[in-house]
Amino acid sequence: MSTVNGGISFWYAQEGTPVPREPLPGDTTADVCVIGGGYTGLWTAYYLKKAVPFLNIIVLEQKFCGYGASGRNGGWLYNGIAGRGRYARAHGHEAAVRLQQAMNDTVTEVVRTASDEGIDADVHQGGVLEVAHTPAQLARLRAFHSVEVAFGEKDRELYGARETAERVRVTGAVGSSWTPHGARIHPVKLVKGLAATVEALGVTIHESTPVTEIRPKHAVTPYGTVRAPYVLRCTEGFTASIKGHKRTWLPMNSSMIVTDPLPQDLWDAIGWAGRETLGDMAHAYVYAQRTADDRIAIGGRGVPYRFGSRTDNDGRTQQATVDALREVLVRFFPRLAGTPVAHAWSGVLGVPRDWCATVTLDRSTGLGWAGGYVGSGVATANLAARTLRDLIQQDSGQGGPTDLTTLPWVNHKVRRWEPEPLRWLGVHALYAAYRTADRREATTHTPTTDRVATLADRVSGRH
Ligand SMILES: Cc1cc2nc3c(=O)[nH]c(=O)nc-3n(C[C@H](O)[C@H](O)[C@H](O)COP(=O)(O)OP(=O)(O)OC[C@H]3O[C@@H](n4cnc5c(N)ncnc54)[C@H](O)[C@@H]3O)c2cc1C
Repeated sequence: MSTVNGGISFWYAQEGTPVPREPLPGDTTADVCVIGGGYTGLWTAYYLKKAVPFLNIIVLEQKFCGYGASGRNGGWLYNGIAGRGRYARAHGHEAAVRLQQAMNDTVTEVVRTASDEGIDADVHQGGVLEVAHTPAQLARLRAFHSVEVAFGEKDRELYGARETAERVRVTGAVGSSWTPHGARIHPVKLVKGLAATVEALGVTIHESTPVTEIRPKHAVTPYGTVRAPYVLRCTEGFTASIKGHKRTWLPMNSSMIVTDPLPQDLWDAIGWAGRETLGDMAHAYVYAQRTADDRIAIGGRGVPYRFGSRTDNDGRTQQATVDALREVLVRFFPRLAGTPVAHAWSGVLGVPRDWCATVTLDRSTGLGWAGGYVGSGVATANLAARTLRDLIQQDSGQGGPTDLTTLPWVNHKVRRWEPEPLRWLGVHALYAAYRTADRREATTHTPTTDRVATLADRVSGRH
């Protein structure tokens, strides 16, 4: 059987690619204009409309809702947020604990709201299991576990090899850390359901409508301009395509493969009855889920970045990436050696220069944005959306500061990425360093993180 490559994602192959809604018919006005129909844009429209039902909200989407990472991701709805360590250093430990607590609550918020709105997104709250394979990974796992506990996750559990195998029999796993603050979802079922929900609430969605330029109170498209006091950029990995934003956030690739549904005898051998989302502690880490129809979907970085901040062509990924992900899958579960890959795809995530997610409303211009989630945006987008709602309420005099508007990632500023070819060279050097470090840690069996990875982290500004 040959592997389908691209077609946006396997999740869309399963659910059907939608016929886009009508594009913007011409110049118009709104109270809020949201650019981008992914989780960030749609959740923002949702919470604003719920808070103030008479608001005229327009969402402008270049292709169709869920065309981006929200329709392609690994379906880890979990409590990780990019940049927490840096926010702790800048704002103090307690501020970062509040941010973490907000993320823990966000997982519950998404699950509850999806259920309340009748969105069936194959949600399974099995938590997140991250496994270690080498002594260096085990040392990192233990350190990671302690840090997470220090940030308030008292319910996190640390397992040895035997307890890990009782959950999932990942070959060679020497330990793992499990948190209950995570759920497996079907990404497209969530984003499609969300788009339908906001539309039913009275939000206008125009698809096939790319925004080419954003100015204070203006979103410019080839079909007309939307004028609104608040214009919100929710374009994550595609941000570089907007005039003046080439170096704002770097579009980082992530790729996935999925198997056919596996037979029961294979599941008997693997375990994974709790359907935890599954990851590892490699520097070039992977993330996986057991789908509702009993496949394994697994993703990782592959070729990390395309020169000039280009994005993929409708989700097509490189064969070398498909082969590399398959190799990891078989290393984790050797009995899958003969299992074909049904579908492969890729997408882009947004990476700021300091690798810190942020949510911002510039009160002088009415321009807002949220993103830079790196690889942890499924839940974070929801927290960002509720925060944008509160910031707009506050700015328009309908509310004061809230628990969300005072979180340390709000209104965070960061410098732009370097021009090419430095961007390309830097990112490729970073991931080459990670792969080297992973190989060396696997062969030397030393219990310390390889210094190549430590150096790469420091030089890249990642930690
Ligand atoms: C392969 C992959 C796996 C991932 N796995 C996970 C995971 O398991 N867990 C996790 O937490 N995170 C994961 N992520 C990240 C997560 O999916 C994203 O952070 C999240 O979906 C971001 O949502 P968003 O709405 O901000 O961006 P997007 O979903 O990318 O939405 C942006 C939208 O804006 C539209 N757009 C862009 N430019 C314009 C324009 N100029 N005009 C109009 N519209 C525009 C796009 O078409 C797109 O629909 C993954 C990402 C990828 C690519």
